[in-house]
Amino acid sequence: MPIQKKYNYLLFGNPVHHSKSPIIYKYFSHNTGLMFDYNIKQVENNMFSNVVLEFFKTYGQGANVTVPFKEEAYKLSHIVTRRAQMTHSVNVLKKLKNNIILGDNTDGIGCLYDLNRLNFIHMNQKILLIGAGGAARGIIPNLLSLNCSIDIVNRTFSRALHVASYFKKFGFIKAIRIDDLKVLNYHVVINATSAGIHQECSFFLDNTIFYPERTVFYDLFYDDKLTPFLQWYQDHGGIYYADGIGMLVSQAAYSFYLWNGIFPNVQSVINLLNKNKKYFCE
Ligand code: NDP
Repeated sequence: MPIQKKYNYLLFGNPVHHSKSPIIYKYFSHNTGLMFDYNIKQVENNMFSNVVLEFFKTYGQGANVTVPFKEEAYKLSHIVTRRAQMTHSVNVLKKLKNNIILGDNTDGIGCLYDLNRLNFIHMNQKILLIGAGGAARGIIPNLLSLNCSIDIVNRTFSRALHVASYFKKFGFIKAIRIDDLKVLNYHVVINATSAGIHQECSFFLDNTIFYPERTVFYDLFYDDKLTPFLQWYQDHGGIYYADGIGMLVSQAAYSFYLWNGIFPNVQSVINLLNKNKKYFCE
């Protein structure tokens, strides 16, 4: 048996205690045979840079970054990939030679991987994106790369306008007002709001006409039970839906690939995580 090197990775965020990442990476370790430590670290909001730089100065080789530090991670990185540059947000860091820290964003490619895995998305489709925060910004370039057109709606309209105007150089995207959302004539409706975290369902969809048999619903938020957004869809007759657990595993797989050059088996990990769910989602 060759002696395996031990790697050290951390997830930084606030809060992080509910994260499923440690279990995902444990499964990756099993299915690739690569041994490493993957731990979580809750960081005070003004301490992020200090803690991360110290980690990389000592034993750290790579890190994931979650809410609310993705923009700060972008600023802290010495060099960034093109997809991190496009979104101004970093969810994975890697130490290179000479202590250079590389920042990447795997949220968007992870989401696209999952939508493809589910056969939920195709070229030239019409997408309604609800939400204009960091996660929405992370996935927009990947959706536009399929030549899809995006309508973006958000509780705060000015934020949707800002996001649409920033990304319009990459493809077809426009902001629409909640009041103008009358008919849901879309192939895919994606929830990228954090409303579900509080079990809220402010999705502005109640007064809309829509055709559940023609429209797929995808929620970036995930839970062991049906999310409020997917519950709404199901209550209205929808049958094609998934939550963001597959995106979470996929973005982790791309992080793992960045660190080790090995792409783990995503489907088997999703199957294991879905076994704990109280509903059938795929
Ligand atoms: P942000 O805080 O950056 O953005 C939050 C967004 O949600 C904003 O558009 C905000 O609108 C909207 N919002 C918040 N509360 C409500 C509400 N009650 N009703 C309607 N809109 C609301 O968060 P992120 O973009 O980072 O995360 C968004 C979601 O995506 C979270 O649920 C997160 O868990 C999930 N996520 C999942 C990932 C995965 O791998 N599956 C990866 C990353 C995120 P406004 O602008 O008006 O405040």
